[in-house]
Amino acid sequence: MGAMTLPRILAIANQKGGVGKTTTAINLGTALAAIGEDVLIIDLDPQGNASTGLGIGMKQRVRTTYDVMVGDCDLRAAIVETVVPRLHLAPSNMDLLGVELEIAGERDRAFRLRKAIHALASSSDFPCSYVLVDCPPSLNLLTVNAMAAADAVLVPLQCEFFALEGLSQLLRTVEQVRNSLNPHLSIHGVVLTMYDARNNLSGQVMADVRDFLGEKVYQTVIPRNVRVSEAPSYGKPSLLYDLKCPGSQAYVRLASEVIQREKLLRAA
Ligand code: ADP
Ligand code: MG
Repeated sequence: MGAMTLPRILAIANQKGGVGKTTTAINLGTALAAIGEDVLIIDLDPQGNASTGLGIGMKQRVRTTYDVMVGDCDLRAAIVETVVPRLHLAPSNMDLLGVELEIAGERDRAFRLRKAIHALASSSDFPCSYVLVDCPPSLNLLTVNAMAAADAVLVPLQCEFFALEGLSQLLRTVEQVRNSLNPHLSIHGVVLTMYDARNNLSGQVMADVRDFLGEKVYQTVIPRNVRVSEAPSYGKPSLLYDLKCPGSQAYVRLASEVIQREKLLRAA
């Protein structure tokens, strides 16, 4: 068997809903694919928004991350192609809601996703340099699986009054996963999303978050942009829907920052 080259695995996580996890997974994934990376998005949210947003309808979700998590199929069998070249997707649907109970009694319940990704990397001809896991809005077993599999966590944080609330709980969970399941896990960075320059509060939140988290916050801030929110209803990343809009351009910059940090991490 040849040496296994593992992709870089990033968990896109925040237990709050509506903060931009899925939008970030789709558009960061698209931007990385556009510069030649082979990217796999794993939809680990029962709501399946990443799948819908990438134009994968319910009928195309023949095999899903549910099947992968319960061990009914391997990850390769679930993967479908998207409208974006080099961007692949393991879709999800509501079945995933039941997974936690189904695997609760299994000893490897926190390592199901890690095993699936490692099997994909070692046994198939499937090229993949980045895996982005779109997590559900919860610190449940699915998110724990993502963190147990990941090299690092990427946290989208919405520029709103309660942005920092809940963040310490998220950081605590990362710490717990590091201490028990995955000593290797780090925080890749925090990306501020839905920034509104006309709103003073947005600027204040940005300043507070930078105060609190320092270097961990990416320079790139994702603006609130209606084009970004329209794109999913066309089953397209906003980078395909309107590449020139400020939101898409911000995701292009975020991708180059992510790659820059990757180079530093690898050199370290
Ligand atoms: P999460 O996955 O964390 O629940 P989403 O990525 O689904 O969050 O985003 C929540 C909602 O906000 C969606 O309707 C999405 O289209 C919208 N949204 C996300 N990012 C932006 C943005 N930069 N500008 C405008 N709307 C956005
Ligand atoms: Mg989501």
